[in-house]
Amino acid sequence: MTESVELPNRLGILPFRNKVLLPGAIIRIRCTSPSSVKLVEQELWQREEKGLIGILPVRDAAADTSVGPTVSQGGVGGDSSERASKVQVGASDGKNQQEVIHWHNRGVAARALHLSRGVEKPSGRVTYIVVLEGLCRFSVQELSTRGTYYTARISSLEMTKIEMEQVEQDPDFIALSRQFKATAMELISVLEQKQKTGGRTKVLLETVPIHKLADIFVASFEISFEEQLVMLDSVDLKVRLSKATELVDRHLQSIRVAEKITQKVEGQLSKSQKEFLLRQQMRAIKEELGDNDDDEDDLVALERKMQSAGMPSNIWKHVQKELRRLKKMQPQQPGYTSSRVYLELIADLPWEKASEEIDLDLKAAKERLDSDHYGLVRVKQRIIEYLAVRKLKPDARGPVLCFVGPPGVGKTSLASSIASALGRKFIRISLGGVKDEADIRGHRRTYIGSMPGRLIDGLKRVGVCNPVMLLDEIDKTGSDVRGDPASALLEVLDPEQNKTFNDHYLNVPFDLSKVIFVATANRAQPIPPPLLDRMEVIELPGYTPEEKLRIAMRHLIPRVLDQHGLGSEFLQIPEAMVKLVIQRYTREAGVRNLERNLAALARAAAVKVAEQEQEQALPSSKDVHRLGSPLLDNRLADGAEVEMEVIPMGESTHEVSNTFRITSPLVVDEAMLEKVLGPPRFDDREAAERVAAPGISVGLVWTNFGGEVQFVEATAMRGKGELHLTGQLGDVIKESAQIALTWVRARATDLQLVAEDGMNLLQGRDIHIHFPAGAVPKDGPSAGVTLVTALVSLFSRKRVRADTAMTGEMTLRGLVLPVGGVKDKILAAHRYGIKRVILPERNLKDLVEVPAAVLASLEIILAKRMEDVLEQAFEGGCPWRQHSKL
Ligand code: ADP
Repeated sequence: MTESVELPNRLGILPFRNKVLLPGAIIRIRCTSPSSVKLVEQELWQREEKGLIGILPVRDAAADTSVGPTVSQGGVGGDSSERASKVQVGASDGKNQQEVIHWHNRGVAARALHLSRGVEKPSGRVTYIVVLEGLCRFSVQELSTRGTYYTARISSLEMTKIEMEQVEQDPDFIALSRQFKATAMELISVLEQKQKTGGRTKVLLETVPIHKLADIFVASFEISFEEQLVMLDSVDLKVRLSKATELVDRHLQSIRVAEKITQKVEGQLSKSQKEFLLRQQMRAIKEELGDNDDDEDDLVALERKMQSAGMPSNIWKHVQKELRRLKKMQPQQPGYTSSRVYLELIADLPWEKASEEIDLDLKAAKERLDSDHYGLVRVKQRIIEYLAVRKLKPDARGPVLCFVGPPGVGKTSLASSIASALGRKFIRISLGGVKDEADIRGHRRTYIGSMPGRLIDGLKRVGVCNPVMLLDEIDKTGSDVRGDPASALLEVLDPEQNKTFNDHYLNVPFDLSKVIFVATANRAQPIPPPLLDRMEVIELPGYTPEEKLRIAMRHLIPRVLDQHGLGSEFLQIPEAMVKLVIQRYTREAGVRNLERNLAALARAAAVKVAEQEQEQALPSSKDVHRLGSPLLDNRLADGAEVEMEVIPMGESTHEVSNTFRITSPLVVDEAMLEKVLGPPRFDDREAAERVAAPGISVGLVWTNFGGEVQFVEATAMRGKGELHLTGQLGDVIKESAQIALTWVRARATDLQLVAEDGMNLLQGRDIHIHFPAGAVPKDGPSAGVTLVTALVSLFSRKRVRADTAMTGEMTLRGLVLPVGGVKDKILAAHRYGIKRVILPERNLKDLVEVPAAVLASLEIILAKRMEDVLEQAFEGGCPWRQHSKL
């Protein structure tokens, strides 16, 4: 490479289409066209080592492909020389060629480093594969055809030795070559780092003359044809060096950028590849250990479960996506658990699983309702009607039944009776205190710890899509900043919307239309009107003591005894005792506390029975064993169970009772009542005792627990004429107190509360009114008459009648206005042992709802004006009436 070449004057020319062979570069080409074959044959093959040819770039505007030969590292070259030669062959007259091919006027002389000749079969065509090395530049003086290929008269463009030496002294050249060497060095080290090759290329830098190095370096990477031509034309050494430095530097930069990109890609690849490898290893280890219960099996099981859940196809598609995501995750990865819990919920939800609806037997349903519940005739009748409609038209969109009444009146148990009559599962969803819409609709899954709403959760628990769902205490939902649960419930209860109920957590619609909803509430009034509009309110008033007695005797006692493993042969609770429990230990509208007290009695009895039996049991069991008793043998012969003979300690009393018969049952008496339930909590004398002093009156109020008797206490002391109110009062009741005081002050003279001269009633004193049960919030206007009565009693120093309770709103002018909840209030008065009730006259119509037995035991007094109330509230009427101008 280093020796200078003697160029002949004339060279056979091989055209290179859109490609340049630079001195020092080596390429391999395949010659198939007759012209190129001829050229190779005559100029190279036959002359052996001495042969030289000229490589001349041609620019063919018509041809769009680049010249076939590639750099030697690139492997076998293309067949472009064939195309080029086709042109030559096709245009042998030489004129046409000039139109098609644009010859460059500088080229490179090349010699063959290797030649191989082949004969194609069956055509017999000769081809050559030639490895060429570029030697030196020449310029074309004249181009002509000789036979089939071109020849050119040329002159060498190489510098002479003397010229070279001159240039080497040039400081510019020295600077340029230093710069080139530095860049080339850099390129070499980058390439060596990449390919981990030895320092061979570096040696090149030291040994090869700099002007050749520039060509060799530029030829080693791909540049555009134009740039190749510029290189070829850079005959001046300084120009060549600076051009080469520029190209090498650019190549270096592009390698660096490419490297950066691959590093990035490799980084990512290696991470996922690493994970893949680790996972493979883990699987192998698990297989080795025979650990089949692994996560993947779980996921397969989960998938199978989801498949069999029968969800709609669009939802199935959605969850499949989620499942695919889960499969790609590692269990330790954040989000894995939440995704899994979510999918498990989807798999568990009853998309189509339903209880089979039995053919509804209305007669049996009625019998069932009757046997489960005492009384409640109208309620039961309404339920039967409801069931009848369902029987005739199962998909009828009837209203949602809403049982309204105080606690313990049987709302829940009625709803569960509906479920069993329909042969459906029953689920109770408690809505008491639900203030957050998310409780109904769930939290979006983006929140940490998000959960489905109570409805979806309930459906998952019950496992069927058509249960009877009890929305318990629907009146206790309230709205606040966290949304309005009532509006979510609206959607639930709306037959148009609940087909596609959207739980935020679930994020796919769930069909609630097969669910039968039943609601309960203590009061209808707090239920938002749109919600109430969807429901049919069925009121369950509280029970009278007589009804409670019947319920206790027929339902509660047998149930309680059964629950405690006792039968009537062990414990008897006489009717008189039940009455006492009702009177003295419970004062409620429903029967919940009654049931609780009866259960307490049953528990005490069970302990007693068990103790008694233990005493009897120990000797008897010993006997059996010691004697090998004939009794035992007999039993064995009868096929009875021997184990029954030995009473293990702590076993359920049920078994105890089955084993041993007690001669006399335990009968509950008053002493036992006091021992078990404690001293009586209420008695009829309470009212009498509490109104023993002037300034106290007995009112009737309405609470969540039904009607209640409410005392009002008023007292006066030295002061500046102020009114103090206590007892957790709302604004309305406070205003009632103001009205009451104003009315009494205005009537003070008429009522003979002050002397005729009309001295101020509040002169030098403060009034304090208190509503006992101070911790319970109270509000409402119905205490008006009670407040006036208490004040009149206080100022007149006369006691009110202890047997009389009252309710009614009062206007400033003394008119008594009707109030709500009359039935419950009267029942409460009855429970309290009150004998007379003063009611607003306009509440007369409400009396039809009060059970006749209760009405019969009470004297109901209707009042139109406040004076009527006062007349009835005091013993012997209103003694000052005759003096008054009322
Ligand atoms: P609620 O839902 O109204 O608060 P429950 O339905 O829980 O009340 O009733 C409390 C208890 O009283 C239950 O054991 C229920 O069976 C019983 N009960 C209530 N009313 C009756 C009734 N009329 N007949 C028989 N048992 C009743």
